[in-house]
Amino acid sequence: MAWCLRPRWWLSLLLGLILAWGLSHSRGLANSHQDQQITLPPLQTHPVPPTLQAWSKPLPTSPGPGTPTPDYFDQVKQTEVGYLIWSQFPIQVYIQPPDSPTAQAWIAAAQQAVQEWQAYLPLKLSSYPTTADITIQANRPSHRSGERVRSAETFYELYIDPQDHLAHRCQVIVRPTQAPKYVLAALRHELGHALGIWGHSPLNSDALYFAQVADPPPISARDIQTLIRIYQQPTRLGWSIPVSSRKIIEKTHQ
Ligand SMILES: [Zn+2]
Repeated sequence: MAWCLRPRWWLSLLLGLILAWGLSHSRGLANSHQDQQITLPPLQTHPVPPTLQAWSKPLPTSPGPGTPTPDYFDQVKQTEVGYLIWSQFPIQVYIQPPDSPTAQAWIAAAQQAVQEWQAYLPLKLSSYPTTADITIQANRPSHRSGERVRSAETFYELYIDPQDHLAHRCQVIVRPTQAPKYVLAALRHELGHALGIWGHSPLNSDALYFAQVADPPPISARDIQTLIRIYQQPTRLGWSIPVSSRKIIEKTHQ
């Protein structure tokens, strides 16, 4: 389960929310040299993005015993900051050009996967890796002993943005050395994680099914219904950190 999902910073958070300066324009929450406790924003609900609100699929009039549930929201995990919800749109996506003979095909697949999800959440291709919310990279996913070889994985990390909001960014890594239809399926699947579906579907007709299948499905109604339910949930992401914690940050960095 969850073989392609990984919070990169979880150990740091468990050790007590260590605050540090990260990239040049953001304040990271991991790899600290100076231990400072900060208080996270309370869990609150953002408005559901209009693109998701506008989507509607008629439910079956009389669901029988074999009818699949309309979503698999119960399989989606909350993180320590609540659900992984974006609230600043468009979400900036950077596709890192791979250095391989199949680069063009891989880039085209990545662009198509972005385009497919664009129908449901506002995404924008960006040329700036340092400010992107989601970075898509062609690479071999990390392999830990005792695990099967993975074709893709998605990380997220937390930081505090210049407006003092708790924010996250995601990195999607997809192995380029697969047949094109599997590259596209993996990109579609991983982008689903990056957009907030932090879990897997038990049905192989959903893009977020937990395993690779011979004939990968497109984004399904159940995938979108799950995404809608996620965006109705509270999160600490996208909200201001308390003023008392800002003082710690200012004090740390004078
Ligand atoms: Zn997955």
